[in-house]
Amino acid sequence: MGSNPVPATIFSFSVIYNRAYMQIYKILNQGSFSKDDIATLLSIHNDADRNTLYKKAYQIKKQFVGNIAYFRGLIEFSNICAKNCLYCGIRSGNTKLKKYEMTTKEILDAMDFAWKNRYGSVVLQSGEISTPKFVDKVDTILQKIMDTTNGEIGITLSCGEQTKETYKRWFESGARRYLLRIETSNKNLYYKIHPKDEYHCFENRVNALKNLKEIGYQTGSGIMVGLPFQTIDNIADDILFLKNIDIDMVGLGPYIEHSETPLYKEKNSLIPRIERFNLALKTIAILRILMKDINLASATALQAIDPEGREKALLAGANIIMPNITPTKYRDDYLLYEDKPCTGEDAVLCKGCLEARIAKYGEIIGYGEWGDSKHFDKRKNSDK
Ligand code: SF4
Repeated sequence: MGSNPVPATIFSFSVIYNRAYMQIYKILNQGSFSKDDIATLLSIHNDADRNTLYKKAYQIKKQFVGNIAYFRGLIEFSNICAKNCLYCGIRSGNTKLKKYEMTTKEILDAMDFAWKNRYGSVVLQSGEISTPKFVDKVDTILQKIMDTTNGEIGITLSCGEQTKETYKRWFESGARRYLLRIETSNKNLYYKIHPKDEYHCFENRVNALKNLKEIGYQTGSGIMVGLPFQTIDNIADDILFLKNIDIDMVGLGPYIEHSETPLYKEKNSLIPRIERFNLALKTIAILRILMKDINLASATALQAIDPEGREKALLAGANIIMPNITPTKYRDDYLLYEDKPCTGEDAVLCKGCLEARIAKYGEIIGYGEWGDSKHFDKRKNSDK
C-alpha cells in the first residue's frame, strides 16, 4: 500500500515557500543588491525568512563592527522648532506643546553624567532654529564640553538644517558628527509629509547633507518606515539613496502617528504597528548587509512598538543605542511621536535597564569609547 497522498494545497504551498526561500537565500549570497532584490527582502513576511535575513546581517555586523553596542547619551535640549513637518509632535503649529529650552548648566550637567558614566559620546538634539542667539548658544556649549572633558567625549549634533558657515563653526568648536534625517528620498512623498514652502525644501536638505560631508563631519541620515503613502519601492530607493550618498551613520525607525499633527488624519491607511516594526528591522538588516561598516542606530521608536525592540535591532545589525539623559521634567514635552517609551525614567534608571537588556542579548557595551563610524575612518583615509 502506498503512503497517503499529500493534499494538493499543502504541496503547492510548500513548493511556493521553498521557491521563495531559495530566492532569498540566493539574494543574500550575492555581492550586491538591485532595487528588485531589496524590494524582495523588504517584502519577506514570514518569521523563518526574516530570521535568515537578520542572521546574515548580524554575522556581517560581528565581522565588520563587532558585537559591541556604543552608547550615545541623548540630550533633547530644546523642543522649539521653526518648522512644521506634518508628522512631528513638536512642530511649530502644535499650539498645545509646552515649549522648553534647557539652560547651559542643565545641558552640561547631563553631559557630565554621560562622561562620568563612560558613555563615549553625547548627542545634542533640538528642534530647528537658526537665529544667531541659538547658533551662539550651541557654539558656547560645544566649547564648554570640550574644555570640561579635555575633548574626551565625542559630540554629535542633531539640530536640523543650518547654513554651511554654522556647520563649520560648530565643527571648529568640537562637534564631530551630525545627524540629519532625510526622512524619505522620494520628493513627492517628501512633500506629502512636509509643507511645500521655502522652509521645507527637499533640495536644501540634500545639500545640507553634502555640506556636512564636505566640512568633515561623520554624517548621519535616516528615514521613517511605514509612512502613509509610502511603498516598498520607496523604501528600496531610500536604502539605495543612503548607499549612494555614502553615508557614515544611519538612524531609522518606524513611523508612529501623533494625534496633534496633520498627518494623523491618514491613520486609517497605515499598516499595523507590528508590520511597521518588522519593516524597520528588515531595513536595518539590509543596510547592514549593504553598508557593512557604517554605524546604525537602534531607534527608541522601535521600543514604542515592542518592549525589546531596540535590543532586537542590535541582532538585526544595529550597533548604536542612545540612552536618554534629558532631565525627566522635559521628556513629556519632546514627543516627536506618541507612546514614546521611558519618558519617566531618569538617566540612572535608563542606564541600568539598558545594560541588563543588552547583556541578555549577548552584546557588549563599548564603554569609554567614541565608537566612531568605521566607514567614516575608511572614507577619510581614502581621501588622503
Ligand atoms: S521633524 Fe524636526 S524639523 Fe520637523 S518639526 Fe519636528 S523637530 Fe522640527
